[in-house]
Amino acid sequence: MVRIRIGGTHFPLETLGPGRRLGVWFQGCPLACAGCMSRHTWAPEGGRESSVGELLGLWREALEDGAQGLTVSGGEPLEQAQALGEFLAGAALLREAAEGARGSGARPERRADLLVYTGYEQDEWDPDRLRALRHADAVVAGRFRVAEPTTLVWRGSANQRLLPRTELGRVRYAPHQDRRATGPTVQVVVEAGRNPGEAPAAQLLGIPARGELAFYERWLGDRGLRLRERSWRP
Ligand code: SF4
Repeated sequence: MVRIRIGGTHFPLETLGPGRRLGVWFQGCPLACAGCMSRHTWAPEGGRESSVGELLGLWREALEDGAQGLTVSGGEPLEQAQALGEFLAGAALLREAAEGARGSGARPERRADLLVYTGYEQDEWDPDRLRALRHADAVVAGRFRVAEPTTLVWRGSANQRLLPRTELGRVRYAPHQDRRATGPTVQVVVEAGRNPGEAPAAQLLGIPARGELAFYERWLGDRGLRLRERSWRP
């Protein structure tokens, strides 16, 4: 089974794509966008080792729990193109099996979609990367550019493109192409300490507006919580 280096997983994720989703963050990114909030995902040897099988197990559980989609982000998922391709192919099969069992396959609004975030622009997708994205219903593509803020939902900067790639992707994402975010764009997740005696810590999942990270850090600090990752600071 192909190994995958991941930064983490979370269910339910509600700020990167529609509905309640399984979030999987791949570890490792060479693109080094200025202002990246996820510098802890840059080192390819960081995070932890996982496998396609382990992640598919999480996806199966999420589907049983009513997940409306899978979001793969990073880090840079296309740096592990073979593993990404195998994971998405397996995720599509599991989705079809779950839909067959529920009899919901023909109704797009009830189907779970597969969404991938990549910093690579479409013209940088070589054959390996295209193969990896074969089962993605939609892709958010493009570098994060700190000087191009946006309120477009699920995008971090105005240059990033939301690209549907399947019929399900077109149905699910067409209403959101030009939609502005109206609700919270960041989800705060508080986790127990990872080591004995370690205090609980918070994680921020989603796409904060410019300047919002420092606000969240203060807001959590006022409640006696620290951020597990403060890696937007160089
Ligand atoms: S914003 Fe995304 S693509 Fe850019 S450096 Fe950070 S993780 Fe990599």
